[in-house]
Amino acid sequence: MAEFKSNAIDCGVVEAVQTRAFDVVVIGGGPAGMAAALAAHKAGARVAIVEREQHLGGILRQCIHPGFGLSHFKQELTGPEYAQRFIDKVHATDIALFLNSMVLGIDSGEPAEDTAVHTVTLMSPAGMLQLTGRAVVLAMGCRERTRSEIKIPGSRPAGVFTAGLAQRYINIENLKPGSRAVILGSGDIGLIMARRCTLEGISVEGVYELMPYANGLRRNVKNCLDDFGVPLHLSTTVTRVVGHDRLEAVEVSQVDERLAPIPGTERIIPCDTLLLSVGLIPENELSVAAGVELDPRMRGAVVDQSLQTGVPGIFACGNVLHVHDLADNVTCESERAGAAAAAYALGTGAGAVPDCELTVSPAGIAGYALPGRITAVALTKLNFRVRRPVDAARVRILAGGVELFAGKVRPFKPSVMESFPLPAKVIKQALDLGASKIVLSVDPIEEA
Ligand SMILES: Cc1cc2nc3c(=O)[nH]c(=O)nc-3n(C[C@H](O)[C@H](O)[C@H](O)COP(=O)(O)OP(=O)(O)OC[C@H]3O[C@@H](n4cnc5c(N)ncnc54)[C@H](O)[C@@H]3O)c2cc1C
Repeated sequence: MAEFKSNAIDCGVVEAVQTRAFDVVVIGGGPAGMAAALAAHKAGARVAIVEREQHLGGILRQCIHPGFGLSHFKQELTGPEYAQRFIDKVHATDIALFLNSMVLGIDSGEPAEDTAVHTVTLMSPAGMLQLTGRAVVLAMGCRERTRSEIKIPGSRPAGVFTAGLAQRYINIENLKPGSRAVILGSGDIGLIMARRCTLEGISVEGVYELMPYANGLRRNVKNCLDDFGVPLHLSTTVTRVVGHDRLEAVEVSQVDERLAPIPGTERIIPCDTLLLSVGLIPENELSVAAGVELDPRMRGAVVDQSLQTGVPGIFACGNVLHVHDLADNVTCESERAGAAAAAYALGTGAGAVPDCELTVSPAGIAGYALPGRITAVALTKLNFRVRRPVDAARVRILAGGVELFAGKVRPFKPSVMESFPLPAKVIKQALDLGASKIVLSVDPIEEA
């Protein structure tokens, strides 16, 4: 076989890369990819899912704790149970599955045109393949921030893991990462891992959080820390890693209101394991290479109300678009993306001539607003997150300096992804004012 190939090259004959045609190609087989694929299939499209792992399910396969499905199935499921419901549905269809297959690139033609067919190149166990589709759905999820991204000083011993990697070791590989752990960051993965480590007999010395508030959901603080007696130290961070071959201790320090370590507050905590739960980054390298514009605030694609990116026919959903705390919300959003991608591919709806062109910007304590563009005068679901917790604030919608809507005063937390239905009549009012931008502002109500 090897000889035949070298002969082929000698004769100047290049074996063509095998190509298969679909209407919609979905990249990523996590909850986002599966929901998008099922919705596109239901709309009549020929669909393919490409997943680099051996199995569908994405990150949910390692999330063996309960808490999934409460809104989607009205039932409490574990991550693998939640994923399995969608895996079964995918298997009951003729959606083509390319597992163990890594997407290397998306070619949308140069420049990207409205009529372009996208070519998705992947490396599969059978070699290189190309899948073409009128629409592509990006559903690649996100990855965890690592020690180098937050620049913790000190030596570089073994024993420093991202919390998700430790979750995989314990829940999938049956490996114990250490015996005495410190957790940096109170995001949901860190909180869940505090409980998981305790249940596995690993002593958890504490969860240390830079901010003056916990970053995870309230229910996770209660169920994972309070119920297991794990202390939460706010306004505190790890300022040094100590150890040569294996981690021996970490130095923690309190921080001031500018988040700078306060000299003299250093404490040494003996431990052999440091778990980092310090944020997730949407996996957008493929998207950027395909010409998709990213929003620097959420590090996901700038999309319109149908979750279509600026490259016609490329849609995005799930954690690759913005970080979700609940898989149920991922499913709901991704069903919209899949249905819109099918409509685009089949020419039955989305992607038609835009009604309008408005940008959406966050203001006040809103960290981002999604979608970043509105191209249709229709009821539009806006998602946003606040940058800090407040007891009393209100959502306001403004255009051309005029307030078009003011919501009720209520508390907001950064751990909760908010959703707000923007009525078509408000979009129309903005257009009537001649505005090119809608502002979603979350304004704290200062106490007298
Ligand atoms: C470590 C970790 C732990 C989490 N724990 C929880 C939790 O306990 N509870 C909770 O509600 N949420 C949790 N989340 C959030 C969770 O990610 C989301 O709720 C949900 O799983 C996101 O779905 P998704 O499909 O967008 O992403 P994912 O589930 O991450 O799926 C993305 C898929 O895309 C595939 N992929 C990526 N790039 C390529 C490529 N180039 N080619 C082919 N395939 C590719 C990946 O292999 C993966 O299977 C966790 C997230 C992380 C990162």
